Amino acid sequence: MSIEIRNIRKQFGQFTALDNVSLDIAAGELLALLGPSGCGKTTLLRIIAGLEKPDAGQVLFGGADATHTHVAERQVGFVFQHYALFRHMTVFDNVAFGLSVKPRRERPSAEEIRERVMKLLKMVQLDWLADAYPGQLSGGQRQRIALARSLAVEPKVLLLDEPFGALDAKVRKDLRRWLRELHNDMHITSVFVTHDQEEALEVSDRVVVMDHGHIEQVGRPDDIYEHPATPFVTQFLGDVNLFHGRVDAGQLTIGSYEQALGQHQDADGDAAVAYVRPHDLDLTLQADGALAQGRVEHIHAVGPVVRVELQQADGQTIEAAVSKERFRALGIVPGDTVYVTPRKLAVFLKDAAG
Ligand code: ATP
Repeated sequence: MSIEIRNIRKQFGQFTALDNVSLDIAAGELLALLGPSGCGKTTLLRIIAGLEKPDAGQVLFGGADATHTHVAERQVGFVFQHYALFRHMTVFDNVAFGLSVKPRRERPSAEEIRERVMKLLKMVQLDWLADAYPGQLSGGQRQRIALARSLAVEPKVLLLDEPFGALDAKVRKDLRRWLRELHNDMHITSVFVTHDQEEALEVSDRVVVMDHGHIEQVGRPDDIYEHPATPFVTQFLGDVNLFHGRVDAGQLTIGSYEQALGQHQDADGDAAVAYVRPHDLDLTLQADGALAQGRVEHIHAVGPVVRVELQQADGQTIEAAVSKERFRALGIVPGDTVYVTPRKLAVFLKDAAG
């Protein structure tokens, strides 16, 4: 089922949690809401769920206005970070719960419930734990059971709020991949809240990057990563170096580096900031055409990539990540002066960069 969010506003007292947010979610899509703590992701998810009322705007489910539809009638399934399974019930009974409390005329027969629950347990690959109690499960297993439980009532929409937030890094990674595969099989429209960039980029069809109650950018993961639309998105998605220069009629100049840009044609000596990720920065021993120079402060040579930290004359640091081969060829040691050139950069005029 598709979801449309139209001009949603939400205030908590004087505080604006959501400021005129609009978003279209396609049927069967897995969408990540990504942003720093307090940006409004959970509030937006709760409004989609019907757990929170917006002050203005509409939520449409499958094209029909659901803004005032009660949560129980929206046919949404939830998975939260700390999803409390019933401790005194077996895994089977936990998953069956939503079905067994349905009014008698809607309740499937005991045999149908058994079949559906076992199918879901197989799907989350935990059918062998049907008779176990939550206390006997690992955190990752509990979240998979929570997901099976939310799917038992056949929701039209699945809402997940930091579902793997409380788990350790390795389990999180496994569950991410697993959720993606499960979604590929089921195609339930799903909205997934996370503050973890890697998680959002790996799991979802599209990512919505939020900040301070508004949407900064919506796009496919590779698009968002390769073409961040704003300085905020660029910085939020990963480590980045900032270099200050100017743009004149589409021509960028920073230090002795010059590049014709496909944008900012009407800039007239405007101050600009170039954002370059450490792995998009090359080190060189030539001053000509370099963005900047620095003194080698630290070298971290663990794994196939060598991270080199440089200090500029003004005290600012630059971080570059180069291949081991490149590093060896340069033969640099702490204290040396080296130069940097970009393989790829994102340029924003100072007004936008703030
Ligand atoms: P986190 O990742 O920390 O959960 P979030 O992006 O999900 O952050 P929200 O939970 O949506 O953020 O909260 C957005 C802002 O609204 C926060 O500053 C929060 O303190 C505030 N807020 C949320 N719910 C309430 C409430 N019931 N009363 C007052 N303020 C609230």
